[in-house]
Amino acid sequence: GPVLAIESSCDETACAILSAEGVCLAQKIVSQDGHAEFGGVVPEIAARAHLALLPGLVQATLDAAGMTPQEIGFVAASTGPGLIGGLIVGASFAKGLALSLGKPFVAVNHVEAHALTARLPGLVPDGAAFPYLLLLVSGGHCQCIAVDGVGRYRKLGGTIDDAAGEAFDKVAKMLGLGWPGGPALEKLALAGNPNAIPLPRPLMGRAGCDFSFSGLKTALSQKLAPYGQDPLPHQFAADLAASFQQAVADVVADRITNALHMMPEASLLVAAGGVAANSVLRARLEQVAAGAGLRFAAPPLRLCTDNAVMVGWAALETCREAAALGLPQPEDSTTRPRPRWPLEDMASRFAPLES
Ligand code: ATP
Ligand code: MG
Ligand code: FE
Repeated sequence: GPVLAIESSCDETACAILSAEGVCLAQKIVSQDGHAEFGGVVPEIAARAHLALLPGLVQATLDAAGMTPQEIGFVAASTGPGLIGGLIVGASFAKGLALSLGKPFVAVNHVEAHALTARLPGLVPDGAAFPYLLLLVSGGHCQCIAVDGVGRYRKLGGTIDDAAGEAFDKVAKMLGLGWPGGPALEKLALAGNPNAIPLPRPLMGRAGCDFSFSGLKTALSQKLAPYGQDPLPHQFAADLAASFQQAVADVVADRITNALHMMPEASLLVAAGGVAANSVLRARLEQVAAGAGLRFAAPPLRLCTDNAVMVGWAALETCREAAALGLPQPEDSTTRPRPRWPLEDMASRFAPLES
């Protein structure tokens, strides 16, 4: 039957209902607004807000889908990785709902949900078939992952310091933009010249597909230093934003080119996570993929950043994979939320048939 899914790993509180085939019947999502004045997500504020928002949000989602709780087949929630307070709130709510309905609860890895989003029905013309190379670029992650199947992930490389979204947010903060910084920085960059200000391209030209952003961030802060506390001239700020974005795109293109060599069996490049909403980056990835004879896919913007549709979809994929392997429907009501949960650990879900 349909899945009711909850997302609460960071500062989006979301609930979605998907049909068993993965068609979204309804989603309600709130991007919490209590964090901007602190310049970042405050975990305790986020957890309290999830708690306050969830009951009404779940009811509103059921109403929008025109469904009663009894018509739900099972309940799913992100149980990691993420901020533990929010994860506990969302998972407890979901488990309680499942228990009261006598339906199964399925725990979802939030990063796996980002990783599988491109496979939602109708997003990619011919469907995002396995295997594909995934660039996961979000607030907490920056990784190249070989996606061989549901639960089968190999990390080819990752950041040695900041995540991509973290870099966007920190640079946006330096430029005096609001938070979250990514979208604001992209907007400002439209008015700037991407070649105006020379910035480093960390790790570019090196072997492998690791990333580094801290040197870029430091270089940028040095360009700002002469202005002290004074407001930046608008054109200078726009040029910095555009030059930073260009540097990130150059680095990512270089790293992905190497990653594609490490995964010759891939015929598709997929980008996921909040930073995949960046249009400059998307255009560059499309170029790289085309140059290598590959297709490129990225979810629509609203499915790149955190949402509950991807959580419901990952739960459906997990159940389908279990059924295909002759395993029982997953039932995770005793699993605990966890702040860290590497993708490589997901294979153990289907362990009974592996020896
Ligand atoms: P994770 O999924 O790793 O736990 P998260 O859930 O916080 O982290 P997402 O919601 O996937 O991350 O993405 C949020 C990040 O995406 C923020 O850092 C935000 O600045 C960045 N982002 C969103 N839109 C854009 C954009 N247009 N350009 C660049 N960055 C963007
Ligand atoms: Mg968010
Ligand atoms: Fe996320």
